[in-house]
Amino acid sequence: DPVEWPTKDLVTHRASATPDRTAMVAADAGDETTYRELDAAVDSVAADLDRRLDGTDATVAALLPTRPAVGTLLFATMRLGATLAPLHVELDAATLRSQLSTVDADLLVCGPSTRDLAAETATCPVVSVADLPVRPDGAGPNRRADVTPARLSRTDTQLVIFTSGTTSEPKGVRLTVGNLVASAVASSYRLGVLPTDRWLVCLPTYHMGGLAPFVRSALYGTTVVVQRSFDADGTRQVIADRSVTGVSLVPTMLSRLLDADWEPPASLRFVLLGGGPASEALIERCRQRGVPVCPTYGMTETASQIATARPETAFEHAGTVGQPLAFTEVTVVADGEPCGPGEPGEIAVDGPTVTPGYLGGDGAAFGEFGFRTGDLGYRDADGRLWVEGRVDDQIVTGGENVDANTVAAAVRDHPAVEDVSVVDLPDEEWGQQVAALVVGDVSPTAVRDHCAERLAPYEVPKTVRVDDALPRTASGTVDREAVRSRLTAGDAHERPG
Ligand code: ATP
Ligand code: MG
Repeated sequence: DPVEWPTKDLVTHRASATPDRTAMVAADAGDETTYRELDAAVDSVAADLDRRLDGTDATVAALLPTRPAVGTLLFATMRLGATLAPLHVELDAATLRSQLSTVDADLLVCGPSTRDLAAETATCPVVSVADLPVRPDGAGPNRRADVTPARLSRTDTQLVIFTSGTTSEPKGVRLTVGNLVASAVASSYRLGVLPTDRWLVCLPTYHMGGLAPFVRSALYGTTVVVQRSFDADGTRQVIADRSVTGVSLVPTMLSRLLDADWEPPASLRFVLLGGGPASEALIERCRQRGVPVCPTYGMTETASQIATARPETAFEHAGTVGQPLAFTEVTVVADGEPCGPGEPGEIAVDGPTVTPGYLGGDGAAFGEFGFRTGDLGYRDADGRLWVEGRVDDQIVTGGENVDANTVAAAVRDHPAVEDVSVVDLPDEEWGQQVAALVVGDVSPTAVRDHCAERLAPYEVPKTVRVDDALPRTASGTVDREAVRSRLTAGDAHERPG
């Protein structure tokens, strides 16, 4: 079982096969880069990085917004045999310092908006992306022919991406070239590829959802259209003006597009919808509006998609994420045994997209059936996967199982509620109780009454507290430990009945 592929990086092959096809488009600036130009830029950047780094096992961290340069850096580190670690651009200094140390960065690439943060935190050299020859004009002063492309290793870490930090501190996930290529190939089996494909990226490139389309497009010989950040009007315009055929979105983005009366152009083949649960109502709106939605379930540890439903499946079975992708094996496990159809359990994933592990202290949870995702779900009789939330979101109160997300969705349904976090609190009588921290111009009693009309009695939050904002982690997800302490702090909260 050879661990090295006798091959060069993806862009070398792509540029020799179809040099004149468009690799990347910067939607905001309008410039287009062909694969020939990308290949030259990758060469220049690899040579430049090579001069700055000591040895090829180096790690290049990046603190960059969603720009084509991130793709260039990914392929340049691939050509050099180095690792890329794109970091969240809105981290606080302490978290950034700790992530730089976790990835053991040898160089940090910053942009104009992250220069100060980089200077304040990095213990390694910092270079501005503007000083790297990322421009696609090719023969810059640093162009050098003597970077021998690395042999691609199926076991070396190509990429480190941090998880979103929903359940605890973000974990640094190692991904190999093998993980990335397997994921791109598997995605093509489910979504198909057309030579005219243009995949819009408006998600952050420090998450898998934003970075994966660069790998896929290089492998397919298609185009990535890069938009710095999502906004409903701007993104709608880009989709129309740049003949976008596919886009990756999270549910709130899609919902905002639909609020803005979006009618997708005929050229749009798919909206890959992931990152969190999509409500049945959202899928139904897509059906009515003719949006070719492909709900997907994925995670950083599997280099993105695990299962993806095509639109016809999504509309016929609203709420499913469809069949597992090619090569990916999904087993639902309860009490150590695989579950039958319809039986819920923890989702385990095996296959070539699964990470070899985390960096730093975190041990990945591998079991008999592969990587244990920490998510709950079931397969139906036809094998479609249904995701029901996280194991950690299950609250057991008086022997009843309550899913915190179901409760949160009911609370959020109240017109005056802007945001909510539902957690478990210790309860003398019931073991655990359901508790909600709510943001909005609403009283705790009104929230409870609203829930009582929609939920089973045991699902109605026993403790409700209204606050100005939810406490969040550095990566923007709700800090549930802090939510718990706010709910238990003082006696301002209400414990009716
Ligand atoms: P951390 O691992 O640090 O707690 P995280 O799990 O949120 O953070 P990501 O890897 O970005 O970090 O997110 C993957 C998770 O997102 C999945 O494990 C799952 O809980 C959730 N998720 C993704 N897609 C879906 C979906 N279609 N339906 C429900 N949940 C989803
Ligand atoms: Mg996770």
